[in-house]
This record gives sequence, structure tokens and C-alpha cells, in this order.
Amino acid sequence: MKKQLLTLAITCFIGSSAFAQKTLIYCGTLIDGVKNEAQSQMTIIVEGKKIVGVQKGYSSPGSGDKTVDLKSKTVLPGLIDSHVHLEMETSKDGTVKRFTQNPADVAFDAAKFAKTTLLSGFTSVRDLGGSGVNIALRNAINKGTTIGPRVFTAGKSIATTGGHADPTNGFRKDLMGDPGPLEGVVNGPDECRKAVRQRYKEGVDCIKITATGGVLSIAKSGKAPQFTEEEMKAIVETAKDYGFTVAAHAHGTEGMKRAIRAGVTSIEHGTYMDDEAIELFKKYGTYYVPTILAGKTVADSAKVPGYYHPLVVPKALEIGPLIQQTFAKAYKAGVKIAFGTDSGVSIHGYNAYEFQYMVEAGMPAMEAIKSATVTASQLLGMEKELGTLESGKIADIIATDGNPLTDITLMRKVSFVMKDGTVYKQ
Ligand SMILES: [Zn+2]
Repeated sequence: MKKQLLTLAITCFIGSSAFAQKTLIYCGTLIDGVKNEAQSQMTIIVEGKKIVGVQKGYSSPGSGDKTVDLKSKTVLPGLIDSHVHLEMETSKDGTVKRFTQNPADVAFDAAKFAKTTLLSGFTSVRDLGGSGVNIALRNAINKGTTIGPRVFTAGKSIATTGGHADPTNGFRKDLMGDPGPLEGVVNGPDECRKAVRQRYKEGVDCIKITATGGVLSIAKSGKAPQFTEEEMKAIVETAKDYGFTVAAHAHGTEGMKRAIRAGVTSIEHGTYMDDEAIELFKKYGTYYVPTILAGKTVADSAKVPGYYHPLVVPKALEIGPLIQQTFAKAYKAGVKIAFGTDSGVSIHGYNAYEFQYMVEAGMPAMEAIKSATVTASQLLGMEKELGTLESGKIADIIATDGNPLTDITLMRKVSFVMKDGTVYKQ
């Protein structure tokens, strides 16, 4: 019996090691997410879902190994968008759709948006708010039922009554009802705790709250604070019990400061960030997720007559154009920045425009790339698995035509995508 087990152990060892098929990726230029300079003529070795080696030069394949020739391209870690909404995409009839689409319709759209996102080079995303279809989408992608990025989802965002993520804003009174914690609408610390626990029950990966008004909700103020600090503290404390981080949408200064002091992990948009807010970001180690692309998109769309509800238009015109300046100020001051676009508010697959806007505002190309790789992986708490191209990491690898360090717009030209060791685009 002992001898049989030993033979089995030896067979298994040989089976998984000596004869396992590897994929050797030849990288003309390599940005690994660790070093501050690109390297040339490198080989990444992938086995199964993992990177098992990164070597100088073009290594010779063993018998049975596959090779991928990216010698004319720049190879980078799979990109991470820290703020997307895969259930929706901007359109003129956005408000009507809330009454005409069934969850199944939303799901088919979401599957399409997810595929588009992956094929544009984003191998992981944080979905910061939808109806809960985003949870099913994550599961379907993980099972291989549908194609998309690795999704970390907040499920339904948590808001106060009439707040930015109250799903009944703008409805006729008899349709408004009085949604509660189950629908992510809360008032007072007890309901805050209940809403977080409900999200846990539904299977989310993180928590999203709307700390101030927002642009696209049918409500007057885009910046008024909408939670008390006590309420947000209850959310952050409860989220910690379940190992969740908390992302806080915030345009207005007061709501942003309350959220940071309450201990949220990231501030989304951060439009009216003043010097005191910047000091708080640094004191608490809070991440800033800018979404410049969303700001520019809503400002443009608001100029198209009838595109948005009349209450939305002035907010879009006022808030939208300010985000790029806020980003510039935050970057200069040394705030920790994780890449995020709010795609869904803009067209899915255009995520990489954000890089261009970041570089325009003064961030060097390498830092912009790191914000979407290593820094974003830290925000996800996945820095041991994602964000860099090193031995032991998950094989999420992309390549661009040409070098984005000399022309950042090339981040929009992704011609190779591997996620979990599987090639989705070549
Ligand atoms: Zn958003």
C-alpha cells in the first residue's frame, strides 16, 4: 500500500511538473508594474493560470510548450478599472429603461458590456453599483458561462432617502414608495448596518455608498452631503466585520470629509476636494478614484438637447468639467490615486481614454499605468495575486501596439488579452 502511494505521488509530481505545457510569451517591450522603466526582449512563462517565470531574452521552449510572439508589442499587466457600472450604458432613454427593462434584459446587456471591457484590456473591474445583476454577472464570468473581466462587485449601492442611489428618485409619488435597507436605502446607523449585512447575504465583494449628491440622479443637488458621519461610521465598522472595503461616491467637500473621517477606503470623483480634504486623504491613506472620463462625458452629453433630465443638465455642466483639475491638484499633492472611469456613464470599452486625461493633467505615463495596475490591485486587496507581472501572480497579461510610454493614446490599442492564463484576444 505504502509503495503504491509512493508510485502515485511520483507520477503526479512528474505529471504536473516535467511534462506540463507552458506558454512562453516573447515581449519586445515589457512594463511589469514593478520597475519604473520598461525592459526590452523579455520572456514571461505561464503555466495554467499563473506566471511561473519572467526571464531576460527570448527563452527556448521545451517540447510541447507554446509560444506567443509579442516581439513588436509592449506587454503590460492586465488593467484594472476601479469604478465601472456593467449593468448600464449612457443613452438618451436611460430614465425610460428603468421602467421597461426586466432584469434578464439588463443581464444580456451587462454580458455584452463585460466582454467589451475585457477585450479592451481591462482584466479586472470594481462594479460600483447596479441592481444586483452585477453579482450574477460576476458568478457567470467566474464559471465561464460568459466572457468578461474578473468582477469585484458592490451589488446595489447604499444611499439615504432621496440620495444619489435611491432607486426611486424622480418617480411619481405612488411609485416612489419607501425603499429600505434591502433596496440599499437607509436612515440612521441601525439601517446602515442592516444594509451592509444584506449586501453580505447577497454575496457582494465590497460596499459602495453615495456620500453626497451626484450628477445623473433625478435630484437637485450634485454635492450636498447625504449621510451623517455617524451613519457612515456604522457602515465602515459593519463592512469590516465581513472583510469589505467601502467606496464612497462624493462630489461635495463636506460629505467627502465626513466619509474620509468615517474610514472609507476610497473616494470616487472627489470633485470639490479642498486643501483640508487633501490633508485628510493623506492622513487616513484614502485612495482617490478620479473618473475624469465620466466628468467629460456628462459635460458633453448635457449639451445635447433632451439627452438628460432637466434636473441633471445644470449639474453635469457644472461638475463634469472640474474633475480633471481636481485630479491635477490631488496628484501634485501626493494623494494615492487608483485608476477608475465610471464606465457605463460613458461607453464601455472607452476606459483607456482616462490614461490620456491623466497624462494631460500632469501625471507621467508610467505612473498612470501603475495607477491601473499595481495601485488598483492594492485598492482591491489583491496585490498578492494581481497588478504586476511577476512569478507567482495570476496570468493577466495584455499588449499594446507600440509603446504607451511615448504615446499614451496607444493604451486604446490593445491587441492581446490574456486573463487567468487564457487568451481572449490575439
Ligand atoms: Zn459610478
